[in-house]
Amino acid sequence: MLCDLIDTIEHHLFECHTSKKLWNQLEKWLIQTLEIKHTFTICEIIFGIICTLKDKNILNFTILLTKWYINNTKTNDNELFLLDLLTVIRQKLQISLQNIKLIGDYENENNWQQLLFNVL
Ligand SMILES: [Zn+2]
Repeated sequence: MLCDLIDTIEHHLFECHTSKKLWNQLEKWLIQTLEIKHTFTICEIIFGIICTLKDKNILNFTILLTKWYINNTKTNDNELFLLDLLTVIRQKLQISLQNIKLIGDYENENNWQQLLFNVL
């Protein structure tokens, strides 16, 4: 493991220096590519964002995949990299967009297309 501290859920996903670095990189990436300015809190990372924030769906999608990526990568004793996370997000987005097209949800399709365009 990359860290010797006790690995609670909070530490594993957020407080560990390796996880925290990834969340910080993700926040910078969200500003630079999607103009979404958001600072993730430990509550949001564990429970998701439940307020009526405009970008709530994109942020919750990103939080879920980032948690999956952190857990999967750390469990296999590998290092966390933003580019690897973006690859995971791109792959899941391509599948989600196919589903959105199938159900004809055009309003959401544009939002997700924009996110996909930015992770390519
Ligand atoms: Zn740690």
